[in-house]
Amino acid sequence: MSNNEADHTVKNMPVPYEKVKSVMDEETYKWHHDTHYAGYVNKRNEIEKELTSVDRSKANVNYSLFRSLKLEETWNGNGTVLHEIYWDTMGGDGRHEERMELIKQIIKDFGSFDKWKEDFIATGKAGRGWVVLSIDVLTDGKLRNFLFDVHNTGGLVGSIPLIAADTFEHAYYHKFGPDRAAYLNALVENIDWQKADGKFKQYI
Ligand code: FE
Repeated sequence: MSNNEADHTVKNMPVPYEKVKSVMDEETYKWHHDTHYAGYVNKRNEIEKELTSVDRSKANVNYSLFRSLKLEETWNGNGTVLHEIYWDTMGGDGRHEERMELIKQIIKDFGSFDKWKEDFIATGKAGRGWVVLSIDVLTDGKLRNFLFDVHNTGGLVGSIPLIAADTFEHAYYHKFGPDRAAYLNALVENIDWQKADGKFKQYI
């Protein structure tokens, strides 16, 4: 690939299958990474390349190639970033300690760990694409669980995602069928809180 082309790269899975088998089966582990996630990275590169030469004089709200590229730029960009965040805090044992800064802040902002978990799972059940625990660095610094119906619709601008759960069917149907709550419960039990706490501490 030459220097003037976009060069977002497909990152390897940060955790081995053995550590996440309670959340997904082995085929989903492979399909989700190699087909879905890689598809967002590759299309993001393709779009960024096309944006270097698209005819901007034809920009139009009802239809234009430029509009399509700008819409899919964030679909594929967020599709890339959200999947990387999703896997990044997996592979733990769900154990958390009150001395962790993130857990202290969760208790402060949600009332208790269990109330955060209840809200996270309810948000994951109510959304079509993602539930994302984020820190709102631009306004009040609070933690919130945001509902994304699709990759690029639903988050709050300026909020930094810390933990993400993919709630599209491709993430869980092969193992859990329609029981999305069971999948979300398994996911929360598999969070690596040490890692999540490290990410949180970069923003306080
Ligand atoms: Fe996905």
